[in-house]
Amino acid sequence: MNKQWPSTKMREPILVSACLLGLPTRYDGKAKRSQAVIDYLQRENLLPIPVCPEQLAGMSTPREKTFFHSGDGHAVLVGHGKVISVHGQSMNEVFCLGAKLTLQIARLSHCDRVLFKERSPSCGVHQMYRGDECVHGVGVTTALLNSNGFEVISEEDL
Ligand code: SF4
Repeated sequence: MNKQWPSTKMREPILVSACLLGLPTRYDGKAKRSQAVIDYLQRENLLPIPVCPEQLAGMSTPREKTFFHSGDGHAVLVGHGKVISVHGQSMNEVFCLGAKLTLQIARLSHCDRVLFKERSPSCGVHQMYRGDECVHGVGVTTALLNSNGFEVISEEDL
């Protein structure tokens, strides 16, 4: 984690799922703007750094829906879990790339905190979908950030 802030006048940066800020980055080409997130950022005087791990990895928008076939984000990172598209194609490689690039942005922008969209296969913090079932677990990017010491907050925990 990075603590090198030169001036207290600067707003602390926080990495935020782009769709929560109103950017149309979701698989269906839509946004998921959250007023609770906007209010939180203003209240805490935070500077949002928008990221979409799936777009960073080169996925198109709109794109096929994806979900876990087995495991969760931590399992995917160690090669035991699987994220697939609705047509059954393995998405592990592209999801791991999106996670790595997001980690790079977190470091480059000196973010200590992260605020992510719940239940996404990339950004989920407490829950994600395994097939049609919503289960406990984390997304692939959340898992990588967690294992590198970043605190990831769910939009639903504000
Ligand atoms: S990957 Fe994350 S930021 Fe991108 S659309 Fe899905 S939830 Fe939003």
